[in-house]
Amino acid sequence: MSYVDEVIAKVIEQNPAEPEFHQAVTEVLESLRPVIEANEDAYRKDALLERLVNPERQFKFRVPWVDDNGQVQVNTGYRVQFNSAIGPYKGGLRFHPSVNLGIIKFLGFEQIFKNSLTGLPIGGGKGGSDFDPKGKSDREVMAFCQSFMTELCKYIGADTDVPAGDIGVGGREIGYMFGQYKRIRGLYEGVLTGKGLTFGGSLVRTEATGYGLLYITEELFKDHGDSLNGKTVVVSGAGNVAIYAIQKAHQLGAKVVTCSDSTGWIYDPEGIDVELLKEVKEVKRARLTEYAAARPSAEYHEGRGVWQIPCDVALPCATQNELHLDDAKQLVANGCKAVCEGANMPTTIEATKYLQDNGVWFIGGKASNAGGVATSALEMSQNSERLSWSFEEVDAKLKNIMVNIYHNIADAAKRYGCEGDYVMGANIAGFEKVAEAMTAQGIC
Ligand code: NDP
Repeated sequence: MSYVDEVIAKVIEQNPAEPEFHQAVTEVLESLRPVIEANEDAYRKDALLERLVNPERQFKFRVPWVDDNGQVQVNTGYRVQFNSAIGPYKGGLRFHPSVNLGIIKFLGFEQIFKNSLTGLPIGGGKGGSDFDPKGKSDREVMAFCQSFMTELCKYIGADTDVPAGDIGVGGREIGYMFGQYKRIRGLYEGVLTGKGLTFGGSLVRTEATGYGLLYITEELFKDHGDSLNGKTVVVSGAGNVAIYAIQKAHQLGAKVVTCSDSTGWIYDPEGIDVELLKEVKEVKRARLTEYAAARPSAEYHEGRGVWQIPCDVALPCATQNELHLDDAKQLVANGCKAVCEGANMPTTIEATKYLQDNGVWFIGGKASNAGGVATSALEMSQNSERLSWSFEEVDAKLKNIMVNIYHNIADAAKRYGCEGDYVMGANIAGFEKVAEAMTAQGIC
């Protein structure tokens, strides 16, 4: 059995009931085959892959809090510190009822390579809880965040592990957690990113993942002698990534005609009105039915369905496994040219393969949504030097990072004879740096 197959089999056997983690490891290791086969003896002797797929450490903890009725609720908290070969652990916190250890491990594993691709010194980690902020009062969210941080603060620090937001964790939650960290540890340090601008946050962090997604997509089109100007784009999601992806797509001359949330989706042939979407989602925290009610050109549909709308570019920005094989077939039949992932692993393995086999340019989230974590790392730099950079300065750095990522992944794919396979290129480029650092640091 090849080394890659052996390690995939072991991961499945040793981590039962964690299908998302199996999926992420399989996707990464499969695409690393040529690199691993070229170094198989050395990697096997050093158990490099076994070390890579086993987190350095993981924490699972009780999070008790009191709801508005005086009832004690108990959730589970997680932090997985996956790999610190190239820098302190860095990765978001997700608060969503679907969170379990397998999901956090899949996200943490992917984060290692994504962070490496940014070219910045950050290792991979991820955390979260099965707590659902939806429908909770601000006081309940604060009570939960304070209890969560009371335990998490033992394991994190500005030079150790620096969490950020993810699904269900935005500026409000980061603020409550930062306050609690400061209170318990007595340290005013850049321990979290995505902070408010009045207490160490970076300009552009809010927009970064969506903007970065569009910068890399624009570079992809440019490399193929085209641009986004005049293109029709479909987006899924209506959260942080989706909103700022839509905004930047419009700034680049494209028209975004869809968005979605966990109950339904919008088709707006006139182009999504970003200000209205922000009002509905960021201010009122309401359903998309409110968008449709306020916008005569928009149709609201229950369930999922954005991928059936004809487009040049599809940007999945909601959650994992939201673009299936049937959706991929529909996109190809409609002449879609490019799929770039804003969310983490939104496209299933079968759908990705179908898109690639049918000539659709496909950039996986590891590369295309790396703008968020890259800007988080820029926030860490600003916190360390106790300075704040201007919007233009951070935005220019973000754009530069995304353009570099595009060329790195395109070149890595070319080096291994797979020109245009950006998934393989991203995994190879991300892996090479981490593997070299792990090897140089000895067996640890
Ligand atoms: P948000 O919580 O702001 O938004 C998530 C959006 O996706 C919401 O519109 C939500 O609907 C929808 N959604 C969530 N779960 C489901 C589901 N099971 N089915 C259908 N729709 C769903 O999260 P973000 O925008 O921050 O994150 C989106 C994705 O991007 C995630 O995969 C995240 O890991 C990834 N990502 C985020 C980064 C960031 O900087 N924020 C950085 C890199 C990756 P509803 O409004 O109903 O809740």
